[in-house]
Amino acid sequence: MSIATLHDHSSPPSSRRTGLSGTGGRAGSAGRERLRAVRPAAAPSGDQVEGSTLAGSTAGSPGALPPVVSAGLPVPTLDGAVVDYANLDHAASAPALVSVKKAVDAASRTYSSVHRGKGFASQVTSRWYEQAREEVARFVGAREGDHVVFTRNTTDSLNLLARALPRDTTVYVFESEHHAALLPWNPKRTVRLPVPGSARDAVILLESALASARGRHRLVVLSGASNVTGELWPVADLARVARRLGARVALDAAQLAPHRAIDVGSLGVDYVAFSGHKLYAPFGAGVLAGRGDWLDGAAPYLAGGGATRTVASAGTTWQTGPARHEAGSPNVIGAIALAAACSALAGQREAIEAHEQVLGARLEEGLAAIDGVESLSIFGPGHERLPVAAFTIEGLEPGLVSAALSAEHGIGVRDGKFCAHLLVDALLDDPYAAAPASAVRVSVGLGTTEEHVERLLAAVAQLAATGPAWEYELGPEGWAPVRDERNLDLTRPW
Ligand code: PLP
Repeated sequence: MSIATLHDHSSPPSSRRTGLSGTGGRAGSAGRERLRAVRPAAAPSGDQVEGSTLAGSTAGSPGALPPVVSAGLPVPTLDGAVVDYANLDHAASAPALVSVKKAVDAASRTYSSVHRGKGFASQVTSRWYEQAREEVARFVGAREGDHVVFTRNTTDSLNLLARALPRDTTVYVFESEHHAALLPWNPKRTVRLPVPGSARDAVILLESALASARGRHRLVVLSGASNVTGELWPVADLARVARRLGARVALDAAQLAPHRAIDVGSLGVDYVAFSGHKLYAPFGAGVLAGRGDWLDGAAPYLAGGGATRTVASAGTTWQTGPARHEAGSPNVIGAIALAAACSALAGQREAIEAHEQVLGARLEEGLAAIDGVESLSIFGPGHERLPVAAFTIEGLEPGLVSAALSAEHGIGVRDGKFCAHLLVDALLDDPYAAAPASAVRVSVGLGTTEEHVERLLAAVAQLAATGPAWEYELGPEGWAPVRDERNLDLTRPW
């Protein structure tokens, strides 16, 4: 598999330059090809961003997509134009839904302490906090005896679970996991499984690892979908094997939850973790939901107020249930935002899946048709995936590609190893590579339009054929355009 490298490897990294030196940085024909998305040149103001129009949105109508607050966000490009921001980075963090923002505004009016006050506002806030928990429980299909604990994010949720495991638990995890799912476990009691070559391979690897060892407590950690390739893991098949061989299953649903319905019972998993900020609720809350027994048996994740039952000089007794692990004043706005997002997504699943299916298929087919572009895959061609793709362009460093997509085309993507270093290294295993193994990732969501995907494909085709239209240099912050005259300062929102 080829690896993206820079055309010119001769200069040291800190002073490397590429592109059309001495041309004054005029955009090439690709700049003209995206006229449909271009507006008259004007620097975007903070007001414009705040009040951006909800292009094409029909909030609340049946079958409509839940609109996002960032639709129509104007961004400047190097040629002096202002274009609608093509957000193709939903897998990192998704923009807020309009309904989430409304829920946050409404909750801000009565915002008060949770479970600590008799005042009206406090009672309303406490009730909404617990109703948010119920909404999340419905969203994941929580069973009798499951707890829903509010955390900060998926990383926090899986670290909480790691602390709650019975002492003798052995953890089984594929090396392909995001670091949030790969690293929280006691290394002395963790079995790492290699990156599988197919879905069947994954099942065989897990089965043989579980069958060859016996232990009283075992936990298999899986992700619902790869944050690098978007490919869906065969969760129900793997969970069936785990159950048969006496292991519990924790599902990292950070990527899956924004795109697909989750039902812990039918998937056969014991725990599920996900983040609000990837679920169109970017307000600092996450979830760990699942079996209550280990959680109730563990030491509190944080020691402090709210987690205690009694405190005396002789000792402290602790709550059971979610409160045990939620000491301190909770992120009530984050929990309400997360619940509002769960409600909106659960109500419009069909429309969301249809939208993402169309854009995802176009993305996959469009990238496959470009010479020099190679998409990454764990499970091989034809495997079902979310509308996410990671790829390399022959001869171009991924960091340069993402800088050019942003500066020349107003497109936001990610480059790097996406906190899944072992997976990206395995997929880009090229002994002759001159550049570090990394890739570009594009991820579609509710803020993505057909025009965004077409603009991306045209820009990638142009980059693959002729390279960037501008001159770039590599500095401490990565690749950046030389002579960048865009106004990137917005008025502060406070
Ligand atoms: N798991 C997966 C699959 C992810 O994609 C991410 C974030 O990219 C995480 C876990 C960690 O999420 P957070 O940073 O919200 O804790």
